Amino acid sequence: MTQGNKPELVANFDCPVCSLKELLATLIEGLESKGLPAPFTKAMADMVKTQGWMRPDTTFYLNIWEDAVYDKAWFNKIPNGSEVPAYHVYLSVCSGCGCIYAAKLEKSTAVRKTGGPIPPAIILPKGTQLTEDIKKSLEGIDFSKLG
Ligand SMILES: [Zn+2]
Repeated sequence: MTQGNKPELVANFDCPVCSLKELLATLIEGLESKGLPAPFTKAMADMVKTQGWMRPDTTFYLNIWEDAVYDKAWFNKIPNGSEVPAYHVYLSVCSGCGCIYAAKLEKSTAVRKTGGPIPPAIILPKGTQLTEDIKKSLEGIDFSKLG
């Protein structure tokens, strides 16, 4: 499967644990809101960005899970060129509580592209002379491996 179209953003998330703490702080009198801590992955990426080794607009994630949605046992039943849904899950780590969470979800499509069966090689007997017409019709074929 190969990437079909450009991934479409489904949702961005903050740390669910710290978001709940913030919500409770706003609901309970006397508790001060501290704001959400930055993701650990952002702090690490900022260190690299200050050294000029990472594009400023790039976001670093702990891991990215992505795949197409199909039954792997039935892969050969899917015709070449068919599109199936694909997902991308971007993981981050909260620097406040250590929670590993899905920071971003994207969806796209994947296209089945296989080379198909390899055609049999053309093997000519040694000493075969090709006429110019045959040579022209076979342009683009690598004959360097023939004897
Ligand atoms: Zn957290």
